[in-house]
Amino acid sequence: MNNSFQEAAKLLKLKPETIFELETPQRLIEVNFPIEMDSGEKRIFNGYRVQHNNFRGPYKGGIRFHHEVDKEEVKLLAFLMSMKTSLLNLPFGGSKGGVAVDPKSLSEKELEKLSKGYVSAIASDIGPYLDVPAPDVNTNPKIMDWMVEEYKKISEKEESLAAFTGKSLGKGGSYGRDEATGFGGFVVLREALGVLGMGKPLKVAIQGFGNVGAHIADLLYQEGYEVIALSDSRGGIYSEGEGFAVDLVKECKEEKGTLAGCYFVGSVTDAQEKIPEGGSISNEELLGLNVDILVPAALGGVITKDNVSKIKAKIILEMANGPVTPEADEILEKNGVVVIPDILANAGGVTASYFEWYQNINKEKWGKEEVLNKLTEKMALAFRKVWKTKEEFSTSLRTASYVAALEGLLEKNL
Ligand code: NAD
Repeated sequence: MNNSFQEAAKLLKLKPETIFELETPQRLIEVNFPIEMDSGEKRIFNGYRVQHNNFRGPYKGGIRFHHEVDKEEVKLLAFLMSMKTSLLNLPFGGSKGGVAVDPKSLSEKELEKLSKGYVSAIASDIGPYLDVPAPDVNTNPKIMDWMVEEYKKISEKEESLAAFTGKSLGKGGSYGRDEATGFGGFVVLREALGVLGMGKPLKVAIQGFGNVGAHIADLLYQEGYEVIALSDSRGGIYSEGEGFAVDLVKECKEEKGTLAGCYFVGSVTDAQEKIPEGGSISNEELLGLNVDILVPAALGGVITKDNVSKIKAKIILEMANGPVTPEADEILEKNGVVVIPDILANAGGVTASYFEWYQNINKEKWGKEEVLNKLTEKMALAFRKVWKTKEEFSTSLRTASYVAALEGLLEKNL
C-alpha cells in the first residue's frame, strides 16, 4: 500500500491488524459475462467490482472501461475511494469497478449491451444502500442511464435511480455533477493559496483537457489566473502572452477534436481574426514549464523519479488519480513543492455524487447554485481539516490527508 498511508498509520499508532483491516478490500467480485457482437459472434468480457470498505456507509465508486483494467488497479482505486469519502465526511465507503475493454472498438449498440451485461452480472452486489457506482474513465451519463435501466429491470426496486450517480440531468442526474471535480479542485487550490499567502498573477499549466482539465482551466481563466499551457493525449499548446482565453481554446478543440493548433486568440471560426499567441509543446515539456501551479489532470504516474528534477512549479494540484509516483513525491517534498494530493483535490466528483444520491433518495431537485455552494463548503472544510492535521503532525499534505481519512474511518468503526 502507498507510503503516505503507512506513514499516517504510524502517526496514529495503529496496530498491525487495524492497518491490515483498513488497507484490505472487504470483497473482490470478478465476473465473466457474454455479449453478442454486431457480427452475431459471442464474446466473453472480464470485469471486476472491488468493495473496499463500508464502515461509513454504502460502498461508492466509479466504473472504468479500459483495456488495461485489472484486479490490482481496481483494488487500488477502490482503496482511494474509501479514503476520499472519509476525508470529505460523506456517509459512504469506497469501491470501484471496471471492465477490460477498449470501448472505442465497440459500436454504440455493443457498448450498450456491454454496460447492461456488466450490471446484470453484478446486480445482486449493488444497490442504493449497498454499493453505488458512478462514471469513471470512458464511462459517462449515457452509460449510467443504460445501467439504471438494466438495474431497474432486475431489481424492481422503487429507489433504483439512487443505485447509480453521474446520470444525465433528465434521468435523475444532478445539476453541477459534470463540473464538480474541476470545481472542487479549484476551491481547494484557492484555500491553499490563501494559507500560503500567494496572490495573483499566477501562471498555471494543465495536463489533460477532458472533463476535469477543461473545467478547471475555464474556472481558473475566468478568475484571472494565467493559464499558459494545456494538453491532451496528442500533445499540448503554450501561450507566450498572459495565458489562453480558455473559452476560445475549448471552442477550437470542439471544432477540431484536438488541442493541436489551438494556440490562437480571436475567433476560431473566422481565420482572418486569428492571431498567433503561442505554439506547440509536448506533454513532457509541459510538466517542466516555469509556472506557479502545475495541474496533472490526465493519467496516473506522470511525474516520476526520472522527470521530477525538471519540475519548477511551486504547487502541484493532483486532479488525476496518482499522477506523482511515491519516489517523486519524496523528492518534491524535499524540494519544498506543495503537493495537494488526489484524495483531497479531486474529491469534488464523489461529493457531488453524494448530493445526487441524496436528492434521488429524498425526491428533491437542487439548483446548480445550491449544489456548487454546498460543494464549496464541503471542499473548503476538508482542506482546513487537512491543513490543521498537517500543522499538528508536522507532515506533508498527503500524509495529513491520510491521517484525517483514517481518523474518519476509525471513528465509524467503534
Ligand atoms: P477524460 O477522459 O474526460 O479526459 C482525460 C484527458 O486526458 C483528455 O483530454 C485526454 O486527451 C487526456 N489524456 C489522455 N492520455 C493522455 C496523455 N498520455 N497525456 C496527456 N493527456 C492525456 O477524463 P477525466 O474525467 O477528465 O479524468 C481525468 C483524470 O481525473 C483521471 O485520472 C481520473 O481518474 C481523474 N478523476 C476524474 C473524476 C471525474 O469526476 N471525472 C473524478 C476524480 C478523478
